[in-house]
Amino acid sequence: MCGIVGYIGENNCVPIIVEGLKRLEYRGYDSSGISIIKEKEILTYKKEGKIYNMEAILPKELSGKIGIGHTRWATHGGVSDKNAHPHLSQNGKISIIHNGIIENYIELKKKLIDEGYTFRSETDSEVIAYLLEKNYNGNFEETFYKTLQQLEGAYGILAICLSEPDYIMVARKGSPLIIGIGENEMFVASDANAFLGYTKQVVYLEDYEIAKIEKKQYITKNFRLESIQKKVNTIDWDQTALDKGDFSHYMLKEIFEQPESIRRAFAGRIIQNIGTVKLGGLNLTPQELFNIERVNIIACGTSYHAGLVGSYVIEELARVATRVEIASEFRYKNPIIEKGTISFAVSQSGETIDTLFAMREIQRKGAKVLGICNVVGSTIPRESNGGVYVHSGPEVAVASTKAFTSQLIAFYLFATLIGRMRDLGQFRGIELVSEIEMLPNKVQEILNNSKYIENIAEKYTKLDNFLFLGRGLSYPVALEGALKLKEISYLHAEGVPAGEIKHGPIALIDKKTPVIFIMPDDHLFEKTFSNMQEVRARGGIILSICNEKNVKKIKGIADDVIVIPETESIFSSLLTIIPLQLLSYYIAKNLGCDIDKPRNLAKSVTVE
Ligand code: GLU
Repeated sequence: MCGIVGYIGENNCVPIIVEGLKRLEYRGYDSSGISIIKEKEILTYKKEGKIYNMEAILPKELSGKIGIGHTRWATHGGVSDKNAHPHLSQNGKISIIHNGIIENYIELKKKLIDEGYTFRSETDSEVIAYLLEKNYNGNFEETFYKTLQQLEGAYGILAICLSEPDYIMVARKGSPLIIGIGENEMFVASDANAFLGYTKQVVYLEDYEIAKIEKKQYITKNFRLESIQKKVNTIDWDQTALDKGDFSHYMLKEIFEQPESIRRAFAGRIIQNIGTVKLGGLNLTPQELFNIERVNIIACGTSYHAGLVGSYVIEELARVATRVEIASEFRYKNPIIEKGTISFAVSQSGETIDTLFAMREIQRKGAKVLGICNVVGSTIPRESNGGVYVHSGPEVAVASTKAFTSQLIAFYLFATLIGRMRDLGQFRGIELVSEIEMLPNKVQEILNNSKYIENIAEKYTKLDNFLFLGRGLSYPVALEGALKLKEISYLHAEGVPAGEIKHGPIALIDKKTPVIFIMPDDHLFEKTFSNMQEVRARGGIILSICNEKNVKKIKGIADDVIVIPETESIFSSLLTIIPLQLLSYYIAKNLGCDIDKPRNLAKSVTVE
C-alpha cells in the first residue's frame, strides 16, 4: 500500500526515486508523483495510473539533489492527477507526501479556508502542506514539529522546503518509514526494497519518531523532541530474489518457490530424534510454554485463514483452546484476555495496521503477543514479545501464496512444540515432524502436475459465482481458495463450510454454478461427499480436490478431479491449497487480469 521514497545526496534524485517507486509498485497503488527542489522552485509532476504515466511527463533533463516520490492508494478523494501526491503548499514552497489518514482534516481544512486558503485537491493530506506554510517561521524543522502537534490520525510524512533545501523532514505515526544510509547520500522509504540496490544499512523509525535527514547525517527525535539514538541494522535480502526469472508473473514464481520456502520455514527448527521442535524466537521459557492455557490469533485476509488452520491444529495436537479473530474487528473491542493466554499476530509484511493496533491493545492489557511474520525487521516483529519469522523471502505478488504455506508451517511447529509438552508422546512427535519434513516434496508433486490444472482452468474461466466448500481443516482452505480467485480474477467466489450449504448457499446452485470441493481423505470425507451429492442433484459443476484413494468414488459424480498426495490429515491444508492457488492463477491469466497487481488491492495494508 502507498509507497514513499525520498532522496538527498550528490546524485540525481529523479531516476533513484522513480526506480524506488517501481520497486514498491507491487504493493498496489492508483497514482504516483514526485517533487524535487531545483534552484529557485519545487518542481512537481504527478499522474493518475501507473508509474510510467508519471514518468512520461517528466522532462528529460529533469534533475535535482533532493526529492520525494509517492505512490498513492486513495482513501480520501477520487483517483485523479490533482489528488495524487506530492501536495504543495499554496505558495508552492513546501511539498509533502503522506501515507495514512489525517482524521481531523475536515476541521483543519475549514479553518484554513476561513483564513483565505484555497485547496486544490480533495485529499486529507493536502492540509499538511498548507499548515506547514501557515506555521512557517523561518525554521522548517521547528515548523514541522509544531505542525505535527495539530495532526490527528495515522501517518508517514516526508516534507521538503524550498528555502531550506538541505534536508527532508520525516515523521512516523502508524505507517512504516525506514532510513537508508549511503555515502554522502541518504534515502528514506516506506519499504527498504526501494533503496536496497544502493545501501543495506538501515534505521527503522518507530511510531512517534521524527527524523531530519541531511546528505551526510540524520537526527532522530521522539515526539517530545528529545534526541534519540537509533540502532543501524544491516539487511540481508538479496536483490536478485526480487527478479521474476523465467516466470510470467511473480505470483506463479512464488507458487513454484513453495517447496523451498516451506523448507526454509522449518529449517533448523526440528529435533528429529525426540520428535519435537525448537522455536527460540518465541522468547518463552519451557515453563511459560507449559503454562499456556489459551491461544488467541489475530490477523487479516490470507493470514487470517492461516490462523484458522492454526486454531484447528493447535486444538487437535495440543488440546489448547484457540480462538482466531479478524484484527480490524478485534482492535475496536475491549478484548477479554484471560490469564494464561498467548496471542499471535500474523502478517506477511509485519506492517498490517489493523493487526499491529490489535497487538498493541493486547500488550496494553499486559499480555504477550508473538509475531508470525515474513519481513524481517518490520514493525510487528519489532514490537512483539517474540515470534517466528517464516523466511519465505520477498513476496512480491499482491495475492499471498508462499507466505500462507509458511505461516501454516509456523503453526504446525508451534502446535507440535506445545503438544509435546502435553499429550503427545515422543513417537507421535517423531511421526509429526517427519511428516512436516516430507511436505516440500509433496508440494513439488502437485506443482509437477500444473499443466493438468492449467487445462482444467480453461473450462472454469468461462464460469462465475464460485462456491468453495470444505469441512474441518479444509474450511479455511475453502475460504483461502475463494479469496485467491476473487483477488486476482475479480470473479465472485465464496468459501463456505460444506455443512452450511443447506442453511442458505445451496439456493445459489444451478447448472452454471461451479462448486469446488476440498475433500482430503480425513474423518470428514464421507460428510463432504454427501454434500457433493446434494450439489450434483441440483446440477452444479463440480471440481474435487481429493486423494487418489477416493478418485474412483468421486469420479462418478464430479466433473473434474485434482489429486493431491497422501499426508496426515492434520497437514492436508498445506497441500489442498496448492491446486487452488494454481487454478486461480490460470483463470486470472486466461481472463487477462493484472495478476501481480490486482485492481484496488495493496500488498501491505497500512491504512485502516
Ligand atoms: N489519505 C491519503 C490520500 O487519500 C493518503 C493515501 C495513501 O496512503 O496513499 O491521498
